Amino acid sequence: MFDTHCHLQDDRISAKAGDIVAAANRAGVTGMLCCGSSAADWGGVERIGAAYAGGGVVCAYGVHPFYAGSVDIDGNNWADELSGRLAGDPSAAVGEIGLDHTVSPRGDDRQAELFARQLKIAERYGRPVSIHCRKAFGVMLSILRDNGGLKFGGALHSYGGPPDLIDELVGLGCHISFSGSILNPNGKRAFASLKKVPVNRLLIETDSPGLLPRGAAGPFNEPANLSLILNRAAEILGESSRKIAELTNENGCRLYRQNSY
Ligand SMILES: [Zn+2]
Repeated sequence: MFDTHCHLQDDRISAKAGDIVAAANRAGVTGMLCCGSSAADWGGVERIGAAYAGGGVVCAYGVHPFYAGSVDIDGNNWADELSGRLAGDPSAAVGEIGLDHTVSPRGDDRQAELFARQLKIAERYGRPVSIHCRKAFGVMLSILRDNGGLKFGGALHSYGGPPDLIDELVGLGCHISFSGSILNPNGKRAFASLKKVPVNRLLIETDSPGLLPRGAAGPFNEPANLSLILNRAAEILGESSRKIAELTNENGCRLYRQNSY
């Protein structure tokens, strides 16, 4: 299995990253995309990626919309550092980036500009992206359209948007990734979305250490819990867990390991 979105560098779990990666591997999770949130945690991502590449950890560097306010958008420091990290690690992706219209203050223009700039940097280095989007799907689509889609692919992580948008997102080059939110019994919209995703664009993720799935031992989520999400996705789709494990792993490897060999 491939956990296509997690944060092993997060302070809540980083000290146990070795145990967490080993437990994930024992549970059959052999790929993990470790996503950064802002320049402040990119060093942590790099350290964990270097220490546990053999355990399947792939790095992603990006500025999350929560931290848009911390970035001097017109200064070049963050963009230079991001570019330098991508140049230095041919297997690194760009993430977590995106738009979030539930934060306060929202700073919509700033978020949009930061997101669009990071898409351009990803494209310049030929990298896939991991995208966060909450309550901002209209703007998201217009930025992706303006960008001409995702030339090197990417995923909408922990998808919570309307099922109606799946076709256009897929047409723009997106994979769609589902998290533990599909274990929520009231997740009708997510179930409908899951069924609309073409099998070659479907991904699963934990978003560890957040989004602890129902039925998992806490206090924090970790990639070893991915089978809970896999099993639920398989149940919703009426397929075997084995088949969904195989195809989501293939999709994850094609998207996030394309530069790793
Ligand atoms: Zn995340």
